[in-house]
Parts: sequence; structure tokens; C-alpha cells
Amino acid sequence: MVAGFLLTSLVSYWVARDSLSQQLAETTLPLTSDNIYSEIQQDLLRPILISAQMAHDTFVRDWAIEGEVESERMVRFLAEIKERNGTVSSFFVSDRTRHYYHADGLLRQVSPDEPADAWYFATRGTPPEFEVNVDWDTADRTRLTIFINHKVRDFSGRLLGITGVGLSMDKVKAMLETYRARYGRDVLFVNETGEVTLHADSFEGPTRLQDWPALRGVATKILTSPSTSFTLEAEDGEPVYVNTRLVPEFGWHLLVVQRGDPAQDRLDNTLLLTLLLCAVITAVVLALAHWTLRGYQRRLEEMASTDKLTGAINRQVFDHVYDDSARAVARRGTRMAVMLLDIDHFKAINDTHGHQVGDRVIAGVADIIRNALGPADRLCRWGGEEFLILAPDHDAESALHLAEDIRRRIAGASIPCGDRSVSTTASLGVALAGARDDQDAVVKQADDALYRAKGAGRDRVERAVAAEPEAETACA
Ligand code: GH3
Ligand code: MG
Ligand code: MG
Repeated sequence: MVAGFLLTSLVSYWVARDSLSQQLAETTLPLTSDNIYSEIQQDLLRPILISAQMAHDTFVRDWAIEGEVESERMVRFLAEIKERNGTVSSFFVSDRTRHYYHADGLLRQVSPDEPADAWYFATRGTPPEFEVNVDWDTADRTRLTIFINHKVRDFSGRLLGITGVGLSMDKVKAMLETYRARYGRDVLFVNETGEVTLHADSFEGPTRLQDWPALRGVATKILTSPSTSFTLEAEDGEPVYVNTRLVPEFGWHLLVVQRGDPAQDRLDNTLLLTLLLCAVITAVVLALAHWTLRGYQRRLEEMASTDKLTGAINRQVFDHVYDDSARAVARRGTRMAVMLLDIDHFKAINDTHGHQVGDRVIAGVADIIRNALGPADRLCRWGGEEFLILAPDHDAESALHLAEDIRRRIAGASIPCGDRSVSTTASLGVALAGARDDQDAVVKQADDALYRAKGAGRDRVERAVAAEPEAETACA
């Protein structure tokens, strides 16, 4: 039963574990990835759209081509873009004059020698039409801003400058933080070289994908595939689930990483509870089986050792009972009375009243004898209407006294048998047994004494005569 319970519990546990881990890898993480992707579509892709519109705006191009006259017109345009789209900033840098126009006015000229302007010269020298740059807001250092630098070209494709907006990424950051706090899942972005470009504030992992021990082996695969899914193993053996997808607009990879399984604890607790329940059920079933079997065993033992009519022990267990009593008196250095009792003229009772009344009389006599006996004394039904009594710790005198008491009680009793009561008498032969006396010999002495009692007229007690002169077992 225990093996069955254990096997069932463990098999269910492993199956649940497997399906949970499969569900996590195949459904949960891809779903997280989809959710985040659709959220960033709004937050990350919007500034790209705005910047692209600005770069293709005929006013911007015409104004730049026509020599940037009346700079306040460009400033007004940038201010309107900023206000209408709720962006952090909006800008235009002219490639011809190097003027940096901003929603707040003409700021200054960018210079290749100025590190803060490096982004401009880097962008204008690279092939893509726009570039994404995530940076802390220079005005508010706690605020992460995404800047889109979009090239502006004249109608023949010549570079006029770079325009774009900066948009706060607070919402995206908050979302990454939520996934980390609520699900223990790290959501982060890496660029095409594996550098971590965006992550939750509380993220403490390495800044490069290649430095991440569990992911090192699959870094190249992640960075060269549009989407991947892995179940890896951390150094401590804990599973690490990874799901990635390319965000083509940025050339970034969105990574969802889950270490361990959040449902694992619940699963472990369930297994523990199941095992505990199994243990309790096993214990209860075992206890019930034990009690039931013990009850049956006791009843069987009782049935096998007790005479049904009189409740006295039967002859089958007498040897065992005799040995017990003999050992007890040997320990105490005393002797034991062994008496044989036979109901007188019992045949006549059967003949007169019938067999059933005869049975009743036998049971009645057994009750009378039992009432005369002490707690350590034993009554055995020796034959039809014959009983053997073992009474430890007696000498000749007290044994005879007990036998005489029994005889008197039987003779004086009137045994109720249905509609009548029957009186009877009994004869007794009394012997005494010491520690070394042979059981058969002692019983024989008692039997001889009984025979003499019968011969001497019945309803009397006779004591045994020692078979050999030195024997101390018989009553002198
Ligand atoms: P005595 O005084 O010499 O002992 O005479 P008795 O009639 O008792 O003679 P005996 O002991 O030889 O006969 C016993 C009779 O008891 C014989 C048998 O029919 C009857 N008997 C034996 N067992 C049972 C029993 O279980 N129930 C009944 N009703 N009668 C039994
Ligand atoms: Mg008899
Ligand atoms: Mg008899």
C-alpha cells in the first residue's frame, strides 16, 4: 500500500512538473513576450513614426533648403510637435549650418570636438535612415528617454540634417519592473552586439548577454535569430527558461528570462501534503487492520481454549495452563491443589429431566465452583460432567478446606433450569502438586481419590494418597 501510494504520488508529481515546465516554456513566456511587444509598439514605435513624419515634412525640408531664414519658424514647428505629441524634446540639427534647433529656441552649434554632440556625427555617417538612442534625460537624470535621430534629405536625397524627438520611457520601465516583481521574470532588451540596452531598475545581471553564465552558450543563437526559446540549466541546477524575439525596428532583441518555476513551490507543497495524507491513510488502515485482526485473533483463541457450555477452559489448553500455574508456585516455593470433581448420578438427571436440563446443571455447577474460587484459581472442563480445578498456593489443609467448601455449595444449591430447579451433589478427589511433580501422576492421584469418594458413597471429598512414600505431592 505504501509503495503504491508513493509511486502514484511521485508519478503525478513528475507529470505535473513536466507539464508545468512545458507550459512555461511553450506558452507563458511567449505570451509575456507578445504582451510586452504589443505594449512597446505604442511606446517605442511612436517616436519613430513622429520622427519619420518630421523628416518628411515639406516645411522642414523647404525651410532648410531655402537657407534657414527666420529660425523662430522652425522653433515654432518643433514646439508644436513637442506639445501635440507630449514628447520630452524635439529637435532639428542642420547639416549645413550645424545649428541645433530645439522646441525652446536655437540652442547652439554642434561640433565634432564636443563629446555631447558625438551622436550627431555618428548618425550622419552611418547608412540607416534613423537611429534609436536610449539615454537618460539631461534635464532629469532619473528619467529614461528614447531619442530617435532621423535623417532629413532634400528632394534629390542630399542630407539636410537630423531631426527627431525624445520620448519618456517611464511606462516601459514600469512594465519591466512589474514583470520582475510579480512573476520573477526578467524582461530586457539587448542590441545586436549583445549589450543590455534596457532593463528594469532592479535588474542586477551582467551588462552583456555573453557574460551571463546560463545564457553564454546560446548568446550567438539569440543574437542571430528572429525568435528563440530555450530551457537551460543554471550552475545550481535550477532550470532557466528563455524566450527571445527580435524587435526589427530597433535591431534589438527582447529577452524574457525566468529562473526556476514559480509554481514549483506550490507543487512541492502539494507533493508533501499528498505524502502526508498517504501516511495518515496508511496509518489509519494499518491500525484498523491491526485492531480488527487482533479482535478476531482474540476471539479465535478464546473459542479454541474455552468450553462453550460452561465458560471453563477446555482440555486442549490445560497443559499450558497447568505449566503456568506450576511455574508460579515454584517461584513462590508453595504448592498447588489439583482437584477432580464429578457430578453424582448425573445420568439420572439426564434421564429424568432430559439432556437440555442436564446441560444447564453442568453449567450451573461450573458457576458454583467459580464463585468458590480465587482469582488465581483455574477451572477446566475435564470431561462430560467432570471438572479439574487448579488452585495455587495451598497446603493439604487449605486444599481440603477449599474442596469441602465447593462440595457444600453444590449440595446446598438449587440450580434453576427453565421451569424447574435441580439439586445435585458432587464428589471430589484432591491432590497437591509441588514444583517437580509430574502432571499426569498428580492428576492420576486426584482421579484415584475421586474414585474412592464415589466408592465411599459420593457427595464427599477424598484426599490423594501418595503413590510412593517419599512423594510430597499427595495429602498425607
Ligand atoms: P456417578 O455418580 O457414578 O458419576 O454416576 P453418573 O451417572 O454421573 O455416571 P457417569 O459419570 O459415568 O455418567 C455421566 C453421564 O453424563 C454420561 C453421559 O450421558 C452424560 N453426559 C456427558 N456429557 C454430557 C453433557 O455434556 N451433557 C449432558 N446433558 N449429559 C452429559
Ligand atoms: Mg458422574
Ligand atoms: Mg463422570
